[in-house]
Amino acid sequence: MADIKKRLPCNVPGDFFVDASCIDCDICREIAPDIFGEGKGSACVVKQPNTQEEREKTLMALLSCPVGAIGTKRKEGVRDVIGKFPIKVEDGVYRCGLSSKKSYGAMSYFILHPDGNWMIDSPRENAHLLKNIASLGGIKYIFLTHEDDIADAEFYAKAFKAKVIIHERDAHAYKYADIKVSGEDPVNIGDFTLIPTPGHTAGHMVLLYKKFLFCGDHIWYSPAKKRLWASKEYCWYSWSEQLKSIKKLLDFRFEWILPGHGRSVKMDEETIKKYIEEFLAMYNF
Ligand code: SF4
Repeated sequence: MADIKKRLPCNVPGDFFVDASCIDCDICREIAPDIFGEGKGSACVVKQPNTQEEREKTLMALLSCPVGAIGTKRKEGVRDVIGKFPIKVEDGVYRCGLSSKKSYGAMSYFILHPDGNWMIDSPRENAHLLKNIASLGGIKYIFLTHEDDIADAEFYAKAFKAKVIIHERDAHAYKYADIKVSGEDPVNIGDFTLIPTPGHTAGHMVLLYKKFLFCGDHIWYSPAKKRLWASKEYCWYSWSEQLKSIKKLLDFRFEWILPGHGRSVKMDEETIKKYIEEFLAMYNF
């Protein structure tokens, strides 16, 4: 739990606060963007919640923080909020929340589908979330974008007898995978397109489902830069391969960018295309 003695000075006065153990993973800013903002290498409470809806979102962020860096003295409402994960995005797509320290707090997702539900990357092991997902019909496939964001996938895979999908180049990180994608050509499973995007890691993949692109650590939206972004600094395999993989996204149409780290965004297809081209142009690509 967060320690009041380590409360960061950037928090506005009031009950909720972020302490010095924050790892700046972005989860709280994604779940409650009006409440949490940027500090110096951390998140900070920039506005205390005033309404019931704001309080609920703030508590969801508190419960989702992978390192317990968000604190409050008032605990009322926590029990109700834990029953509200996963968090609806739209059209049967959800954020799982409850991020894991094992994946540096990466966001994971859940998709309701008539042929069987999907989980994209994994939240931390949590009995309440397990129960809520069971009531939504369980999980048929768990798609792992890459080796860093596996977290507690094995727990959810075992509970629902889900088939786990990973690229063979990252499969060393999940030895029980049922489907190992190879090569760099897209693979279709029903309504879903699995797109190998080497760069951040050798076996990184993104998943396209209708208007939603689940990006892992390939690309995300940066509100500070007001553009789509990818990190050369945190590219573990090959930056030139990552740029090639970003260019590959121009062949596909989507409106939502739903990443592991960084912020999600919804834009029209043409704007997304323009943002991708602008990002590539920065590297003369
Ligand atoms: S979720 Fe927790 S660790 Fe992540 S940015 Fe917010 S306070 Fe920091």
